[in-house]
Amino acid sequence: MIGKGSELKKNEMHEAFKFRLLPTKEQEVLLAKHFGCSRFIYNHFLAEKQKHYLENKETLKFNACQNMLIKQKKNEGYEWLKEVNSQCLVATLVNLETAYTNFFKKKSKFPKFKSKKNKNSFQIPQHISLKTSNTIRVPKFKEGIKIVKHRELKGKIKSATISKNPSGKYYISILCVVEKPIKHKKTGKSIGIDLGLKDFIITSEGQRYCNPKLIRKYERKLAKKQRILSRKEKGSKGRDKARIAVAKVHEKITNSRNDMQHKISSKLVKDYDLIAIEDLNVKGMVKNHKLAKAISDVAWSSFVTKLKYKAQWYGREVVVIDRFYPSSKTCSCCDNVKESLSLEERTWTCSQCNTIHDRDVNASKNILRRALSIKSSGTDDYRNGAEVRPEVVSKATKGTGDEVLKKKVYENTP
Ligand SMILES: [Zn+2]
Repeated sequence: MIGKGSELKKNEMHEAFKFRLLPTKEQEVLLAKHFGCSRFIYNHFLAEKQKHYLENKETLKFNACQNMLIKQKKNEGYEWLKEVNSQCLVATLVNLETAYTNFFKKKSKFPKFKSKKNKNSFQIPQHISLKTSNTIRVPKFKEGIKIVKHRELKGKIKSATISKNPSGKYYISILCVVEKPIKHKKTGKSIGIDLGLKDFIITSEGQRYCNPKLIRKYERKLAKKQRILSRKEKGSKGRDKARIAVAKVHEKITNSRNDMQHKISSKLVKDYDLIAIEDLNVKGMVKNHKLAKAISDVAWSSFVTKLKYKAQWYGREVVVIDRFYPSSKTCSCCDNVKESLSLEERTWTCSQCNTIHDRDVNASKNILRRALSIKSSGTDDYRNGAEVRPEVVSKATKGTGDEVLKKKVYENTP
């Protein structure tokens, strides 16, 4: 959020609308100047802040940076800074300040210098409007830039971010203040979902939502394009081309994945009052394992994010259960815990009550049961289940796939 004045009324919320931007050749040049100036200001003041700290053992404050920026624009050789919307530059300073604050709050790493190879972007804090139904007007672009309007813009426009991705496409993300949606009517139904690799998710009612074939197809294409890229010489024109080809496939994977995730999360939130999921530390897993690709491809965390914010919009509840709970090998009928369950065992029979379980459906049933019991007791007593936790950790060392992934989670959890 940029600056002050972001107070929302009780019935309001922010919603971002992202559109493809279709600038003319001339506009592309001016956009490039905005990207360049924003990057320059970010890097320049990051260096200034570091220098100031080394020399004075204190932080260079935001206001001081802003005053330096005003002077800088008057300096000889820096006239080009005046060619762009000055508010974008101040917004960049705000971003740098936020990056610093997050670092001191230990929320993120120390800010890095930005390079041209990263995603290019700049923020526009105000004065954004629709000129025609498919042209957006922002400061310095009076004639308006064309957008591909695939959905209606709602509410009051607040700010925007323009970006250019590695494949060379331009986007504008417009932040609006909208009225909160009307909550869904209660359905009286709850559901547990297990996040898998083969199927994207499996519900306690036995539905499976698959990874679409489309993504698989793109994955093969991605592997091919990456091979081509790896053979190109560094700094060559062919390498640049190959890099763009890789970026384009990545983009297609992201788009179709988001599409799928939106459809599933909307449906779940519409149909169920309570949705139970497992707490999986995806960040820790991706860092440490060969299966990183598969995991990031199914993109658990981005799905959970969508699920959570939609639940909040529509008055639903998402309950996240303890990651040490052995959801796969506990019998959802009689609570008997199977001693071991290898990944190859897709179905198993409970030795106590003889129920035949589909591994994934049983897991999601347990996730739901667990969530409901946490809710009714108000606490999650499994955290104290010292007996179970070491067992799960040690047994999870064998095999591949989700048990191993879960083990990785344990290892990466402080
Ligand atoms: Zn049983």
